[in-house]
Amino acid sequence: MKKDILSLSLTELEREIKAIGEQKFRAKQIFDWLHVKRAADFSEMSNLSEQFRLKLAEHFCIKRLNIQKKLVSEHDYTVKYLYGLHDGQGIETVQMRYKHANSLCISTQAGCKMNCSFCASGANGFVRDLEPSEMLLQLYETERDSGINVGSLVLMGIGEPLDNFDNVVKFLQLLSDKQGRNMSLRHVSLSTCGLADEIDELAELKLGLTLSVSLHAADDETRSRIMPVNKKYNIARLLSSCRNYFEKTGRRVSFEYALIKDVNDSLETAERLARLIKPLGAHLNLIPVNHVPAKKHKKSDNVKAFQEKLTNLGINATVRRTLGADISAACGQLRAETAKL
Ligand code: SAH
Repeated sequence: MKKDILSLSLTELEREIKAIGEQKFRAKQIFDWLHVKRAADFSEMSNLSEQFRLKLAEHFCIKRLNIQKKLVSEHDYTVKYLYGLHDGQGIETVQMRYKHANSLCISTQAGCKMNCSFCASGANGFVRDLEPSEMLLQLYETERDSGINVGSLVLMGIGEPLDNFDNVVKFLQLLSDKQGRNMSLRHVSLSTCGLADEIDELAELKLGLTLSVSLHAADDETRSRIMPVNKKYNIARLLSSCRNYFEKTGRRVSFEYALIKDVNDSLETAERLARLIKPLGAHLNLIPVNHVPAKKHKKSDNVKAFQEKLTNLGINATVRRTLGADISAACGQLRAETAKL
């Protein structure tokens, strides 16, 4: 089988190039063609001999994603792509345009194992992990299609990034490689449902990215009901890993909290939540829960009061702007809808 060249680090590529009898410095030229000039085919690599290009094509492939669907929001320029992978799987990528910057939300797995009760991503089960190249290509294909330079990136699409740990770390290294796409990891956030052991592992790597934790409840009973992962890592264990992440990396963790009517939106819950996260000095993002047809959760009508309560208790809480609501821009909605057809 041909090797997936976009998943190789520069050091790995150098090794591979030497192994096929070519000089090591050629790897840098190829890396530049792939990650800076964005060549989609070896034939474009004009500073390599034709013979060498043919040899590369024998050993390696340059993967692509194909646009299966592209939806443009009429309200706010949010663009949602459903990208097809080589094995027919579909994944979602959302481009969000703000006044000064463009942000991209990418998927890390096809499907998800985590089964959060309000989320559409795991609706059709878990299929497979994405390769580093398939994460990188969500950025490259979107930049190619839109002609827009993406300034920041969030790993908040389909899948649980820390459940695909090695590939995600490899992707982050490729993304930030100075010889490649050169995106500073200060502009990258990773969102997790709370795999505490992997948060600890990530902290050790000191990559400098922002960790965002999907909390969604202030007590274990409620959290275990809506997020099964809580049965493995309860809130106390999770928060201890968040504290450790801050201590090791110097970067504050932020929390996501989807407000669901009559489940986690009472003012008493806001008080409990404030007590839990205040010691972490963390920022809290409130998300009015997006309606997912197959799920029965309802949007809270207590968002403003919940936020005010937290603010009064000294918590920095903001309500997330809902972008692209008209194009099913919430996690996994498009993949789930398409699979049903
Ligand atoms: N697995 C990761 C990242 C993907 S989900 C995680 O759990 O963080 C990205 C965010 O969207 C998470 O905070 C998730 O809980 C939230 N989310 C999922 N479905 C939602 C819905 N229907 N409404 C609002 N937020 C949702």
